[in-house]
Amino acid sequence: MQSGIMRVTVWGENEHDRTNEKVKAIYPDGMHSTIAASIRGHLTDRVEVRTATLEQPEHGLTEEVLDNTDVLTWWGHMAHHKVDDAIVARVHKRVLAGMGLVVLHSGHLSKIFIKLMGTSCSLRWRDDDSETVFTVNPGHPIARGVPAAFRIPEQEMYGEYFDIPQPDELVFISSFKGGEVFRSGCCFTRGQGRIFYFSPGHETYPVYHQSEVQRVIANAVEWVYQPEKQSYVTTSCINSPLGWMNS
Ligand code: ZN
Repeated sequence: MQSGIMRVTVWGENEHDRTNEKVKAIYPDGMHSTIAASIRGHLTDRVEVRTATLEQPEHGLTEEVLDNTDVLTWWGHMAHHKVDDAIVARVHKRVLAGMGLVVLHSGHLSKIFIKLMGTSCSLRWRDDDSETVFTVNPGHPIARGVPAAFRIPEQEMYGEYFDIPQPDELVFISSFKGGEVFRSGCCFTRGQGRIFYFSPGHETYPVYHQSEVQRVIANAVEWVYQPEKQSYVTTSCINSPLGWMNS
């Protein structure tokens, strides 16, 4: 990985975006375009952003694209099952080697997130709600410039229990009209890679147009970005270059 400019690939499933009139009205160029534009807007000349979508060859995530990606963001929902296992394995390997990953909203059930977490990643769900996001780790880089609490007027309820491993760090907790709570901003490390999960972002509401949400995503891109990571090889004892295990 090169230091300096953060090379970001915003991955979008792009299915609702093309077929659902309500989603098309909110995101005429697809959610991935709005997310990409907001990352560009916040991180300006420190970032180079491209988009990739499911319907492209290799889902837009060729070896070449991933070799030139420092941070990948992931939004998927209705077509998780259409994501090729070989591409999931490719992304997984890259995360373990240090590529940052930001998983958004219904991406909690994506193959890549489940593979990285090792749990079901299932949660409690209800439609038609509003969400209040509380910053519970104000000193964390992902909370920089984010208010102590902010409201998302229209949003689905995602509630506990959320079947994930205990996050390394918890940055946001959300509450909903029904009194439910949810760990809505969670940090993980897998191998050398940093992962951030952020739950706001249902496709039929303009969540990715909201400034606080855009700020969190931009901060998350910066946090998962690790320019100095070197690839590493762990040898087995028998092949140890030191030789002392072979005698
Ligand atoms: Zn949703």
